[in-house]
Parts: sequence; structure tokens; C-alpha cells
Amino acid sequence: MQAPELTRRLKSKAEQLGFQLSGACAAVQPTGLHQFFDWLNEGYAGTMQYLSDRRDAYSHPNHVLENTRSLLVLGMHYGQGIPQEQQVGKGRVSSYAWGTTDYHDLIHKRLKLLKKFHQELVPDQQCRGVVDTAPLLEKNFAQRAGIGWLGKNTLLINRAQGSYFFLAVLLTTAELSYDQPIEREHCGGCTACLDACPTAAFPKPFVLDARKCISYLTIEHRDAIQDDLKPAMQDWAFGCDICQEVCPWNHRGSLANEPEFEAIADHNRLNLTNLFSLSDEQFRQMFRKTPLWRTKREGLLRNAAIVLGNQRAKEYLPVLRKAASQTLSAIVRDACIWAIEQIESE
Ligand code: SF4
Ligand code: SF4
Repeated sequence: MQAPELTRRLKSKAEQLGFQLSGACAAVQPTGLHQFFDWLNEGYAGTMQYLSDRRDAYSHPNHVLENTRSLLVLGMHYGQGIPQEQQVGKGRVSSYAWGTTDYHDLIHKRLKLLKKFHQELVPDQQCRGVVDTAPLLEKNFAQRAGIGWLGKNTLLINRAQGSYFFLAVLLTTAELSYDQPIEREHCGGCTACLDACPTAAFPKPFVLDARKCISYLTIEHRDAIQDDLKPAMQDWAFGCDICQEVCPWNHRGSLANEPEFEAIADHNRLNLTNLFSLSDEQFRQMFRKTPLWRTKREGLLRNAAIVLGNQRAKEYLPVLRKAASQTLSAIVRDACIWAIEQIESE
């Protein structure tokens, strides 16, 4: 099958499978590779050691699939278009994690179907579908595949559809017809994301110091959170959407089509004190299949305590005192003690 026809049919199938965005590009060394190495060398990845451990693998998609010739980059919306207001006793959750399903699971299933379709079309070619976990600079390839540009907030932005989407990639040994890369960014003089970031996590436009980012601190970071960053976390218990919420390219609102990504009670707004009363098993049942599972119980309780401390309402003191005296986790205890001090200092 010729490249234009194969590309057209793969894109059409991807759309049927729920990917609203698609673009194809050649498998080459990513243009952002050296910026990525500089970013690692600066220490901006914090404790995400797995990135440094595989740094050489990022140099070419061949390290993900041997003899890769092309990449079909795909985007799937998760935005709900509902601005979140702060509520006492509740913690905000980044909108990608509002639903019942971990997006990795859903997207992997769709990629499997796309892979099967690819095999039917070109049985002599190999392909592999990846979402997040492979050593691949997806945002860089998405730009090359014409899907969007990297904004000053370091997220990929599509002119029509904003930035609330997951990226996935189908790597193939087949040749595809490639899309025009997006050569320039369209942020212009805007600095809304840089100005709004509560932890000043951007040392300069287009560069994120993950060590200061609330998303990293509340999800990826497994240790106690530095005291000077805790107040800036405000009421974010899992992730942070601020630099997306303020972006004018998201103001048109983009809606997720997948029912599994729709907000469910107690996941969109986490009831923080309830979290402390859950047993390990109840916690597992509630979060095992959702993105919130990534922090495990310890991480989520640490975040919940910090948010309660930031909200400074005296009615939380008994819960925090009990957790501080009973927990076996030094990380949770540290957060509870800090929160108690904040409330008592009011
Ligand atoms: S996610 Fe939040 S903390 Fe992280 S860079 Fe964006 S605004 Fe800053
Ligand atoms: S908020 Fe402004 S500067 Fe930041 S990514 Fe969006 S358009 Fe670019």
C-alpha cells in the first residue's frame, strides 16, 4: 500500500477510535534533544531519575521500535471545560485525572486496535503504540507532525483545540505521508502562564523546573515537600491546571468524548478528611483504576494534609492530630505537623 493511502486510512481509523488529533512525521533525531539534555543537566527533572537513566534512548525512535521509519502522533481530549472553584475541606485534582479510568489503560486498548488495523493493511511491517512510558520526546514529534507548538508553559498547544489532550504515538517501520511541521510558536507577547504559576516554576519561558511544579510535587515526588513550597500548593491535592486554565488557547473549551474521563463524585473534588479515614483496602478500591493511584495512599495523604493546612480551618485539627500521632509514615506526619502549625498560628 502506498504511503498516502496508508496514512489516510490510519488517521481515519484513529479518529474512529477517539483520537481527535493526528499527524505523521519521519522518525529522526528529535530537534529538542539537546534542550532535553540541558534540562536534565540543570537538575530540573528532580527525582525523576528514570528520565536520566534512559537519556541515550531518547536520541532516536529506533530505541523504541527497531527500524522505525515513521511516527503517527495522536491526541485525545480530556478537557471538561468546567472551571474549578476552591471549596473548604476539598482538594482540587488536575482535570486529566477526574474520571474512572487511568488514561494509559484506555489509550493502550485503542492503540492495540489501531495496531491490529495496521497489521491488516501492511502485514509485512512492524508497529508499536506508546503512551507516556517510552523514551520518546512526544511533544517534539507532535510539533514535527503538525499537531501544535510548544507553548511557554512547555505544553503542546493546538490552535483550534488548546492543550487539554493526551498524546500517544504509533511507531511504524512503514513509510507514511508526513504533515507540515509547525515551525513557530503562537504565544506572541502573552505571558499569562508564567505570571500565574504560583510556585514560579518557569525559570524562563519554555523551560519548566519540575522540582517547583505542583504537578511534580503532588504526583511524582515521593518525599516530604519543602516547607517554602507548601503554601503555594493552595488547594491542589493532585496535579495543577493553572498554566492551562489561564492560556487563551484553552478559552474556547474543548470537551472530552470519553465517558471514562468525565468527572466522578469525590474524584473531581477530593474530600480531604475522608481520605484519612480510608483503610488501605478502601483506598485501593476507590483509586486503583484511576490516575490518582500513582501517588499511592501515602502521597495523597501528604498532599491532603498540606491542603488542609493551607485552608486553615480549625475543624480539621482533630483529623490532622490523629493522623500525625497514628501514621507510620514520616512523610505524612511531616505534612500533618506542618498543617497543624499553620492552623494554630491563625
Ligand atoms: S502546573 Fe501549576 S505549578 Fe506547574 S508550572 Fe503549571 S501553573 Fe506552575
Ligand atoms: S498562556 Fe500565553 S504564553 Fe502561556 S502557553 Fe498560553 S499562549 Fe503561550
